[in-house]
Amino acid sequence: MFIPKRVFFEREALDYPLGRRLFERFKQDRIPVAMTGSHNRVTGIPGTTPREAYLEAKRTLVVGVRRTMQFSTCKPSAHYQLPLCTSCTGLCEYCYLNTTLGKKPYVRVYVNIEEILQQAEKYIKKRSPEITVFEGAATSDPIPVEPYTGSLAKTIEFFGGQSLGRFRFVTKFTGVDTLLGVEHNGHTRFRFSINTERIIKAYEQGTPAAKARIAAARQVAGTGYPMGFLIAPVFVYPGWQEDYTGLIRSLAGELRDYPRDQITFELISHRFTASAKNRIQEVFPETTLPMEESERRFKFGQFGYGKYVYPKETLREMDELFRRELDRYFPGARVEYLV
Ligand code: SF4
Repeated sequence: MFIPKRVFFEREALDYPLGRRLFERFKQDRIPVAMTGSHNRVTGIPGTTPREAYLEAKRTLVVGVRRTMQFSTCKPSAHYQLPLCTSCTGLCEYCYLNTTLGKKPYVRVYVNIEEILQQAEKYIKKRSPEITVFEGAATSDPIPVEPYTGSLAKTIEFFGGQSLGRFRFVTKFTGVDTLLGVEHNGHTRFRFSINTERIIKAYEQGTPAAKARIAAARQVAGTGYPMGFLIAPVFVYPGWQEDYTGLIRSLAGELRDYPRDQITFELISHRFTASAKNRIQEVFPETTLPMEESERRFKFGQFGYGKYVYPKETLREMDELFRRELDRYFPGARVEYLV
């Protein structure tokens, strides 16, 4: 379980029962607690080098109030992001949040979950009679902080009661016990992000092994949630085809009784931008992440900056492999995208 090294509270967070409960809990646990003027500008996280600052931030929890009630869009997989928390305790070297959350990507939770869900309801009403889909993991992994907030369970239950609202989130973590008994009504897609053991060991420090994630997925499958798997980022290395095939095979074995047509897959090949590469090399000076520009193809992104992707031929091999193996082990499952 995530035990923060220090916790900052916004003063207004103490106006909410969850904020007060967390304040008392951390004081009782003798975890250093301090106040902060704003959850967006937190000073007092130590670290003189980029790596130290990053590691200290990942052990820092900030408890705040979500004031902006305008949700960001989340195309193409959902209509809106549902802001439950930001950042996560994992130390994945390639994580895009390393670039987007600044030099101190501290973990932040919001105590006004009821207000956030009321806002979601307004968005749902506005789009009625269309279905509105919300993504709960656009800027975080929501599971590590769930034992403190219970917000994910509340959200799943809320969507269980919404005929026109759907929820989806993705995790690499295995603390799913408190979510198993929630009345989801089939309205939440519970997704796991998985990869080969080799990639997890090399680049996903601070996260559970593939076997543990798949075992957690099996527990979740037993409670009837619609399920999804994100295989990302896909890397090419000696033996990658055998490893990814083995991963799909062991997943199929664990989920043997689960209806294939209730499962979605999303597959994303590894890519990087020039600024991500700089940032990764600052925080992980010893990184072995493959980021050699000459081995990649440069592609302009939709937001004006370019990224380095695998060459077309390699992407075609990935496409062939995943389509063939998913067809073999998960006939009827939906591949949402393979990029
Ligand atoms: S678990 Fe997900 S959100 Fe957390 S560091 Fe890894 S990739 Fe980023």
